[in-house]
Amino acid sequence: MKETRAAETLRHRDRRREFVLSVCICFTFVAIFLLCVFLRVSASLRLPSPQLFSPPTSLTTFHHALRVNHMAEDAISQNKERFAQLFGSGDKLRTIRAPGRVNLIGEHTDYNDGFVFPMAIEPQVVVVCRSRKDEIVKVASTVFPNEFVEFSLQKKIERAKPAWGNYVRGVAAILMSAGIPLSGMDALICNSLPVGGGLSSSAAIEVSIAKSLLLLAGLSIENDRLALICQKAEQEYALVPCGIMDQMIVTAAKSGQAMLLDCRDFTKQYVPLEPKELRVVIVNSMVKHNLGDSEYVMRRRQCEEGVAILKREHPTIKALRDVTMKQVEAAKGRMSEIVYRRCRHVVAENLRAIEMAQKLLMQHYDEAGELMVKSHNSLRDDYEVSCPELDFLVEQTMKVKGIYGARMTGGGFGGSIVALARPRSVEALSEHLHKTYTAKFDRQPNVFVTTATAGASVLE
Ligand code: ADP
Ligand code: MG
Repeated sequence: MKETRAAETLRHRDRRREFVLSVCICFTFVAIFLLCVFLRVSASLRLPSPQLFSPPTSLTTFHHALRVNHMAEDAISQNKERFAQLFGSGDKLRTIRAPGRVNLIGEHTDYNDGFVFPMAIEPQVVVVCRSRKDEIVKVASTVFPNEFVEFSLQKKIERAKPAWGNYVRGVAAILMSAGIPLSGMDALICNSLPVGGGLSSSAAIEVSIAKSLLLLAGLSIENDRLALICQKAEQEYALVPCGIMDQMIVTAAKSGQAMLLDCRDFTKQYVPLEPKELRVVIVNSMVKHNLGDSEYVMRRRQCEEGVAILKREHPTIKALRDVTMKQVEAAKGRMSEIVYRRCRHVVAENLRAIEMAQKLLMQHYDEAGELMVKSHNSLRDDYEVSCPELDFLVEQTMKVKGIYGARMTGGGFGGSIVALARPRSVEALSEHLHKTYTAKFDRQPNVFVTTATAGASVLE
């Protein structure tokens, strides 16, 4: 009897142990489950949806790599050392910067009194300079290492070799002829901007040299006047019949904003570019075809011819800016087929520039992108200023997911394209273009991302 009770007690104890064990196992499972849920929730809190938080870390790093070194502090101090080697040591050095520019839309419209929509970019020109006691201007450039440009402010300033010196000579000459007294200067021009890449290195050196000369003379003039002086210098000394866009944006740009410019009265409307949603990508084709200059002059003449024909019917027309598409269509039979297509491009491009500024203001990026592609097609087919390299880059860019739009930018016949992209698409775009462009044209494109920067300024 005793034995039976003892055995029962033992069985009872075993059952209790089993029960406690299974409760423990259950608790462990529940605890593991709860831990998993907790980890998942906290992970999803730490890794937010990429739509809300862009760009993700990996792309920030990548963009950094794609961003051009737009002359960091150490590069400027190296250039100061270079200046000292070239010109000797002496009084305090001054540094002045002027950015390059990219035109988002509105191409070949500036010399038709129309609208352009450019922004200043990170690559830039920096001039290191110091005043001289005599009336001599002596300038060197890191791009042309063994050449000096030297002239006296006391004599009439003439065009001379090397060719790049005419941008410097022109600026000094036009400032002086505008009654602005200058003093002697030693200067070194340094560049993080591709020369001849369609990003307006020419306006950047004109404006930075003009600002340097004015600074050393203790003077300053307002932006529009400075831009007009620099344009005149390029026209009369470099013999490039350029419009006013480049000099205007290089002097008047605002950080983080593109600028819709009315090239007739110089009214400017600034449009912020939303950095979380949008990347501006520039792709330099690394080609520049020689026919650019003569073709540019020819396009200007064809536009003038169009205006002369349209004027007969509508005497108030002064430039293609005043013309509607209806008037172009009505005049089709009275002008050559080429002049008709040139007019059609300019009139449509003016409308596109205004519309694109509105679309970007409203953050309607897909529609803005469509306008860019239309602009490119019109420049390729109607204005005939593109080339196979630019067409290929635009075509390939539009194949990449997340690209809003792309077009050639600048005068054409080489130079660069500009694309608007979703932040996450930039890496894929760069890879795709490097692969396809190199395979087709046997040269690497230069792909970089830029923000919109401020216009020219005195650094120190
Ligand atoms: P873009 O303005 O598109 O770069 P342009 O043909 O209008 O091309 O202007 C390029 C010319 O400007 C060069 O050939 C050179 O004469 C001059 N230039 C530009 N940058 C510099 C520089 N850093 N030093 C000397 N000359 C320069
Ligand atoms: Mg230029």
